[in-house]
Amino acid sequence: MSLSFDLTPEQGELRSVVRQFAQERVAPRAEEMNHRREFPTDLVLEMGKMGLFGLPFPVEYGGSGGDYLSLCLAIEEIGRVDQSLGITLEAGVGLGAMPIWKYGTEEQKRRWLPALASGEQLAGFGLTEPGGGSDAGGLRTRARRDGDEWVIDGSKQFITNVGTDISAFVTITAVTNDTPREVTNFIVPTGTPGYTIGKGYRKVGWHASDTRDLSFEGVTVPADHQLGERGRGFANFLSILDEGRIAISALAVGSIQACVDECVRYSHEREAFGKPIGAYQAVAFKIADMELQAELARNAYYRAAWLMMEGRPFKKQASIAKLYSTEAAVSAAREACQVFGGYGFTTEFLVGRLYQDAKILEIGEGTSEVQRMLIARELGLPRTS
Ligand SMILES: Cc1cc2nc3c(=O)[nH]c(=O)nc-3n(C[C@H](O)[C@H](O)[C@H](O)COP(=O)(O)OP(=O)(O)OC[C@H]3O[C@@H](n4cnc5c(N)ncnc54)[C@H](O)[C@@H]3O)c2cc1C
Repeated sequence: MSLSFDLTPEQGELRSVVRQFAQERVAPRAEEMNHRREFPTDLVLEMGKMGLFGLPFPVEYGGSGGDYLSLCLAIEEIGRVDQSLGITLEAGVGLGAMPIWKYGTEEQKRRWLPALASGEQLAGFGLTEPGGGSDAGGLRTRARRDGDEWVIDGSKQFITNVGTDISAFVTITAVTNDTPREVTNFIVPTGTPGYTIGKGYRKVGWHASDTRDLSFEGVTVPADHQLGERGRGFANFLSILDEGRIAISALAVGSIQACVDECVRYSHEREAFGKPIGAYQAVAFKIADMELQAELARNAYYRAAWLMMEGRPFKKQASIAKLYSTEAAVSAAREACQVFGGYGFTTEFLVGRLYQDAKILEIGEGTSEVQRMLIARELGLPRTS
């Protein structure tokens, strides 16, 4: 009988350590960070020291020698108390470091990966442009070869982790040839002349995470800053997103689980008409539905991560996990606020913050519509393009 739902002892231990860190170090500051829209560099550095940013990478590159499911477990636990810090970890590893690990040369891995894996530096993933995120293949940013260098012009929008004190570089897509159309990836270090990092957005949620627009005007990088094969840039970035969707699903599960935990606690404490509100079926059934969503969403991301770690096709399963768990997170957060009544409409309570934070889960790393498109394609349905 090979089917098992048990975590390995290492994964179980990691989950408890991260849960304790999240409760003791993150939870007490989460409300204030959200209110001040403050990026907590010190907590990121602490998480780096715990090895969380290096979980899926080998020790020889500064990693912790864990696996992708371990990363997801850590993201779920951090996301249970603070979604902003959860996305910082998810994007730091899944989007920032992963392109270097998957597509970098040996020299690039040795040069760029250790500082990312130790959490001392962060990198961004520059795919989305002002002209479109879902249609990211329609990018306008260009790079032209000039001797031993590349000269980049263009812009990117909504990029995570590029404007913090420890942001070291961004990897981007740029058009390097028109006919045939060719897209290539590049590493652009922070501080390169012509590379401008915009002010942060005033977002609906994820207040304590860093999101910026970027512009590139005659930005010159050496030839060894090309990442991966010339012409493979779009396909390589899409493949990074396939994996990232599993991690976003884990972040969504953290949110749903927090809704369950908070609502169970509150339903015992809060009384109305002489009884704890949990005694009313209308309240209890909402919480039962959240528990159902947490269970199904967690199973979906565990299975997608397992397929990926087994080296099997996992694209459809990753989209299913992302789609189901993020839509469930929005619904659970809405119902959790309802259970909390007026208090649920304040950001002083976790459920109010989860409600603010949940919506972006259905948008980032591929919208719900894009996930349905990908699932339909995997089923062999006719394509429009
Ligand atoms: C806080 C935040 C952080 C982000 N971080 C990053 C990052 O680090 N790196 C990065 O590259 N991007 C990042 N993004 C961008 C994000 O991935 C995009 O916003 C997302 O992919 C959607 O793209 P868009 O905003 O251009 O919307 P559009 O693509 O313009 O979509 C608008 C609407 O049209 C729908 N739509 C589009 N095409 C179709 C179609 N063919 N069929 C059906 N419906 C369709 C969409 O689903 C959506 O509902 C971030 C965004 C936010 C808000």
